[in-house]
Amino acid sequence: MTQREPLDQLKQRLPLLDFLQQRHWAARRVGARAEFVGLCPLHPETHPSFYINARKNLFYCHGCHRGGDLIRLVQLSQGLSFRQSVAYLQQQLPSPPVSGLLENAAAFYQLQLHRHPEALHYLQQRGLCDPAVIASLGLGYAPGGNLHRHLAALGYSFDHLLHTGLINPQGRDTFCRRVIFPLRRQGRVCNLYGRSIGSAFPHRLLPRSKGGLFAWDSLSHCSSLVLAEGLFDVAALWQAGFPHTTSALGTYLTYSQLDDLCSLSTRLVYIAFDRDDNQAGPRAAHLLAQRLESRGIAAPIVHLPAGHDPCSYFLSGAIAADFSACLQRAQRL
Ligand SMILES: [Zn+2]
Repeated sequence: MTQREPLDQLKQRLPLLDFLQQRHWAARRVGARAEFVGLCPLHPETHPSFYINARKNLFYCHGCHRGGDLIRLVQLSQGLSFRQSVAYLQQQLPSPPVSGLLENAAAFYQLQLHRHPEALHYLQQRGLCDPAVIASLGLGYAPGGNLHRHLAALGYSFDHLLHTGLINPQGRDTFCRRVIFPLRRQGRVCNLYGRSIGSAFPHRLLPRSKGGLFAWDSLSHCSSLVLAEGLFDVAALWQAGFPHTTSALGTYLTYSQLDDLCSLSTRLVYIAFDRDDNQAGPRAAHLLAQRLESRGIAAPIVHLPAGHDPCSYFLSGAIAADFSACLQRAQRL
């Protein structure tokens, strides 16, 4: 009971139709009713079968037979759990209160990086050693155990830190023993990505939107881009002299990330996903190339040697000229 009211409020403050239109969903009204139809954002299609009832604040697609409310739409389109979707939507509401906190946390982690040899050793193992690249990525390290004290001294309450997901209920850093990449949007830190240097699950993000594409503020003007899967791939490519490289943190792009890539109609997007043995990367690259090409964006797929991602490719001894050759051989669908 107590759960429902805030959720209803959230949906009232972010009407489904507004939410989609802000993401450039083109729709036409059906008859005189509060119904709209357009292309389904959940699957590729050429004939509109996605309906919204603006009065009921619900959608249904006759193509993929999925429907529901705004939270359901976010779950389906971004691959998030119910809880993550609610957190994502809360971030879309005006006046996000955590940006300053994340700035402070990122700055703290950045200071720690050079004080902890295990972190530098890990970066070296992944082939990342150029101090200028490490600095421009804003890389940091969470040694664990002292973030709470540091942020409490800056005036942040325990509850605030807990709510953001920076600490757990025991007060421990949730990013403990992770290399930290701050994710920025319009100059502000909007999330943190932590890569485990130990045996913990490799990837961790705070339970909020991962934002747009990595380092998009500085790349949005580029007419030619490389899109890699992971942030260590971005780091390796920046270091090797390919600074126009970004990542969606995985192979699946959200609407806003896709919109970012399509913001220049003449843009060339090289897709350089992992060439994993199970073919997951190549399959995802193929799907993404289709999504981009259907929006008029040239999206050649880069074929790395089998088993490699850009980071491991350079680690295995490849040099810039090798990757340039891969770009030259990249093929459109
Ligand atoms: Zn559909």
